[in-house]
Amino acid sequence: PIAIMWHRRDLRLHDNAALYYALKAGRPVLPLFIFDKDILDHLDDKRDRRVEFIYKYVLKLQDELQKMGSSLIVRYGRPLEVFQELAKEYEITNVFTNYDYETYGKGRDAEVAAFLKTVGAGFHSYKDQTLFDHDEVLTGTGKPYTVFGPYSRNWLGKLADPFYTKSYPTETYFDQLHKTAPLPMVTLDDMGFEPLGENFPKPTVDDALLKQYQKMRDYPAERGTSELGIHLRFGTISIRNLARQAQETSPTFLSELCWRDFYFQVLDHFPHVEQHAFRREYDNIKFLNRPEDIERWEQGKTGYPLVDAGMRQLNETGWMHNRVRMVVASFCIKHLLVDWRIGEAYFAKKLRDYDLAANNGGWQWAAGSGTDAAPYFRVFNPTAQAEKFDPKGEYIRRWVPEYNSLNYPAPIIDHAFARQRVVEVYKEGLRKE
Ligand code: FAD
Repeated sequence: PIAIMWHRRDLRLHDNAALYYALKAGRPVLPLFIFDKDILDHLDDKRDRRVEFIYKYVLKLQDELQKMGSSLIVRYGRPLEVFQELAKEYEITNVFTNYDYETYGKGRDAEVAAFLKTVGAGFHSYKDQTLFDHDEVLTGTGKPYTVFGPYSRNWLGKLADPFYTKSYPTETYFDQLHKTAPLPMVTLDDMGFEPLGENFPKPTVDDALLKQYQKMRDYPAERGTSELGIHLRFGTISIRNLARQAQETSPTFLSELCWRDFYFQVLDHFPHVEQHAFRREYDNIKFLNRPEDIERWEQGKTGYPLVDAGMRQLNETGWMHNRVRMVVASFCIKHLLVDWRIGEAYFAKKLRDYDLAANNGGWQWAAGSGTDAAPYFRVFNPTAQAEKFDPKGEYIRRWVPEYNSLNYPAPIIDHAFARQRVVEVYKEGLRKE
């Protein structure tokens, strides 16, 4: 009899909550990773950076486990079906995993847990992706927070207790790993994907960068942020270790990790945000969604250089600076009157650090429809933003080399006109409630 450790967005062996509890439970533990057909078959770009990234770290996991005389079961399929097969191959006592906050993940886990019950196996999940979750940080009246300020004060206060940032010493129990000959690995090709040969950022951040973070993080021409998003997304670093490092170096960076937890708890408590405005009345706004506008925005040809630079950085690298994410999102929704869900979906396709909770939170913030959102009548001026945050135009010239030449398009829309129009359209939409 064995226990299974099901890795998902926690592609590491060190400081891993579910793995720790699995190893401590006393049965030999065999780790598993499933390339989920339901997710992968829906990606239309077969050269997807995220898939390449996951593949790379799954290989690493398998290698590390094999060095200890164990291995990693790797399957390509639908999770429920994979567990049905595994239950025939192994006598499974329990499955351990880390909690998933997205609707799809919750449904998948419920289905797998229900099946496991029929074969007499338990299903146990743990908090690992976030510092706090579920009901750990609530208002005085026991409700989930919808405003960041008070949430972050409560969150920071709790986090001062070192209990919450302590590592899980999995290495102490590695002798509990199930001993087995190496198990087979699927290839990217088997799943219809091709590698890009991408150089991913390293899964660490220097103290020196964090100490400069507050000063540098708003200037897209600089390398002023950690670029750890993809590692946090797939759990190739531990959030607890990172929070400890931030506590010692940068309150501002720690506050960004708090935003991350905040959006996870919004998604967990208010799952309707996946499809709808957090504030329901914002679903009534009549967006134009003109295909030619959407296309020019996606391609970075709006004639607003900071917007275009951001979209081209996204298209070419799969990453965009946070300041510019705010500007392009606002431009898409408010200047072009494109539904935030369309922009959100484009980011979801392209961002290597795509995370449903943070992306949805960012887009709803820009739309004014979310928790703690900017009031709708505040419209970013993309030209003023460029002057302030890219004063020498370095970032713009890097991504839009033809800027200032005749080849560069005229602005797709006049700022003053767009500003007035969106305020009227929002007013009209919100009046209907
Ligand atoms: P750093 O500045 O080094 O921050 C460190 C980490 O803190 C990030 O990796 C991230 O995990 C977290 N973080 C920072 N800012 C935020 C924030 N505002 N909300 C939530 N978490 C934050 N972040 C994502 O991780 N995935 C997304 O899909 C995503 N989509 C966004 C869409 C829009 C419209 C906006 C405005 C923001 C979005 N963000 C998203 C938040 C933020 O832009 C990115 O986390 C950040 O730019 C990633 O770069 P970094 O890793 O260098 O971040």
